[in-house]
Amino acid sequence: MRLSNSITCHLKILLVLPALLATVNGLAAGDAPKGPMQETDKTPDKVENPDRLDSREWQERLTPEQFRILRQAGTERPNGAVYSQFKKQGGGTYYCAGCGAELFHSDQKFDSHCGWPSFWDPAEIDSVETRTDYAGGMIRTEVVCANCKGHLGHVFKGEGFDTPTDLRYCINGTVLVFVPDDAGD
Ligand SMILES: [Zn+2]
Repeated sequence: MRLSNSITCHLKILLVLPALLATVNGLAAGDAPKGPMQETDKTPDKVENPDRLDSREWQERLTPEQFRILRQAGTERPNGAVYSQFKKQGGGTYYCAGCGAELFHSDQKFDSHCGWPSFWDPAEIDSVETRTDYAGGMIRTEVVCANCKGHLGHVFKGEGFDTPTDLRYCINGTVLVFVPDDAGD
C-alpha cells in the first residue's frame, strides 16, 4: 500500500513537472503571445509614463521580435503567419503590445494585399503620431504609438484604395494585441 502510494505520488510529480516548467518559462519570457499576434480576451492595462522604462525593462516586457520592431524600428516578415492571422480576425480592437494603448479598430481595417495589417485610420486621432523617416534612402512617414513612441509601421497616402481617407497605415501585427469585440471583458 505504501509502495503504491509512493509510485502514485511520483507519477503525479512527473505529470505536473512539465506544466510547472512551462509556467516558469512563460514567466521568464513575459506574457507569451498566443500566435504571432497576441490575442487576449482582456483589455490590456495601459502603461502610464512609459518614458521611464529603459531598454532593459522594454526587453523584459516584450518578445525579442516585438522589441526589435517597437524599440528598434524593425519590420516583420510580410505575408507571414501574423498577416494570415490578421485577415482571419473579426471585429475587435488593436492595442499596443508595448504599452496597452488603444491604436486601431477593425472598423478601419482593410485588405490592401500588401502583406502587412492595413488600416485606413487609427482608432482615435491621437492614438498614433507620425514622423518623417529617411531610413533606407526613402522618405516615408513613420507611425509610432502616441503613448510609448514605439515604432508601429508607416503610413502611405494617395495609393488609390477605395477607403474614406486614401491612407494606408501599414502596421506590424507582431506589436499589436487583438481583443475581439465579443471578449468577455
Ligand atoms: Zn505603445
